[in-house]
Amino acid sequence: AAAPITRALLSVSDKTGVVDFARALASHGVELVSTGGTYKALVEGGLTVKEVSELTGFPEMMDGRVKTLHPKVHGGLLAIRNNAEHRAAMTVHDIAPIDLLVVNLYPFEATLARGGSFEDLIENIDIGGPAMIRAAAKNHDDVTVIVDVADYDEVLAELAENDGATTLAFRRRLAAKAYARTGAYDAAISNWFAGTLEIDTPAFRAIGGTLAEALRYGENPHQSAAFYVTPEKRFGVATAAQLQGKALSYNNLNDTDAAFECVAEFDPARSAAVVIVKHANPCGVAEAPTLAQAYEKALACDPVSAFGGIIAVNRELDADTASRIVEIFTEVIVAPAASAAAIAIISAKKNLRLLVTGGLPDPRAEGLTAKTLAGGLLVQGRDNAVVDDMTLKVVTRRAPSEQEMADMRFAFRVAKHVKSNAIVYAKDGATVGVGAGQMSRVDSARIAAAKATDAAKAAGLRETLTQGSVVASDAFFPFADGLEAAVAAGATAVIQPGGSQRDAEVIAAADAAGLAMVFTGTRHFRH
Ligand code: 5GP
Repeated sequence: AAAPITRALLSVSDKTGVVDFARALASHGVELVSTGGTYKALVEGGLTVKEVSELTGFPEMMDGRVKTLHPKVHGGLLAIRNNAEHRAAMTVHDIAPIDLLVVNLYPFEATLARGGSFEDLIENIDIGGPAMIRAAAKNHDDVTVIVDVADYDEVLAELAENDGATTLAFRRRLAAKAYARTGAYDAAISNWFAGTLEIDTPAFRAIGGTLAEALRYGENPHQSAAFYVTPEKRFGVATAAQLQGKALSYNNLNDTDAAFECVAEFDPARSAAVVIVKHANPCGVAEAPTLAQAYEKALACDPVSAFGGIIAVNRELDADTASRIVEIFTEVIVAPAASAAAIAIISAKKNLRLLVTGGLPDPRAEGLTAKTLAGGLLVQGRDNAVVDDMTLKVVTRRAPSEQEMADMRFAFRVAKHVKSNAIVYAKDGATVGVGAGQMSRVDSARIAAAKATDAAKAAGLRETLTQGSVVASDAFFPFADGLEAAVAAGATAVIQPGGSQRDAEVIAAADAAGLAMVFTGTRHFRH
């Protein structure tokens, strides 16, 4: 018969059931040794326990990275009991045998599942635990190893049946389970790590990024993802402090960036501006004397889409605006700064993320954008063209009014941040209809107008919001049909790059409808 267990080392992150189990071990006369946290739990449970630091003569150190990595522990686990040389080494170095090892590991998998940061995940890689598990399992001839809380009862039954010992067959079974556990644990770590590197290789070497955060997943749950920071010095998600809320996802980061880049087109010294983004497209943009007014106007454009949106503001977030924002479900707010009162109001919504960037990015700044394609990488300078720097050429018989001109600049500024084909209707410093991402320009024009009609109906208005508006197109109208759709929606003025072979037809259609039209000479494709 095997010798009874004399000594057990318990070191568990998940402390479920460990006190009862240890108490049962003690009743079999087993001496208990434990690492800091487990020791504390056992002593609080009224048990007599020796701390591992007392056994090794070394304190646990370096945030717990080094606790049990010591010959007194590993010698006690690995020594072959019926080997004379091993026994002599134990005597010379005063190493006592450890017959039972109870370990469950730092919760790496759980940390990954809850979207822990890169640093968080690194700290949750258990080193000493797997080393002890592997040592004990290797020496299963003499040592019993438990890696699963669910096995406590079976081990106690085994001890009861065998006068405080375990059978070899039982120890082998536990050893196999132990290696399965350390194997799965290392696989989880290596999968995660490889995922972060895979992304590192193509896209970010070119731009020279450094890993800021491994993300839980990409655009979809089956895609790995990470957030890299480039040397570009621009205010935005990369400089943001997150004051509250859940961890940001890949899509959150992407949408927040889209919203903040768009709102940064509005000089905070001239007006307060608010952008509401969904799926990387603005669904409401407005400027006004105050942020609260701008928010209400932006929200009115498409209140249905704004639900669960990302909100960017170009001035310090104030209490009035914050209290209006928390009235509907919002995912993220990003602002250059936030007042203490606004922060207090937002704190009532625990999940709502509030990001404070410290400033606005310069829309005229140079920089790079990158996109991978099969076997390659596309890199381009960012679109830093700003409508205020463009020479606007009136091409119709009627020249735009001052109000139309102001709204056209506004609409073109927004169109730059809408996926192509982009059609933006605007009136009085607010978008009233946004058509994004359609394969034909006329469809974008129709969709924008239809959304404006819906929003007007929902608000109980008789006239569609696009009546008397201006319209911006990110690229030229290839045919007159897109412009005619804008006329049908009630637009009175058009801003577009121009340059189509059929410009003459489009200008004639505008003249026939009494519209004013200007050409910018600059296109804002965004695919
Ligand atoms: P405790 O809560 O008892 O302080 O710590 C228990 C955890 O520490 C267990 O998950 C165990 O695997 C882990 N552990 C034990 N020794 C070491 C070590 O030397 N280094 C590291 N990183 N973890 C250890």
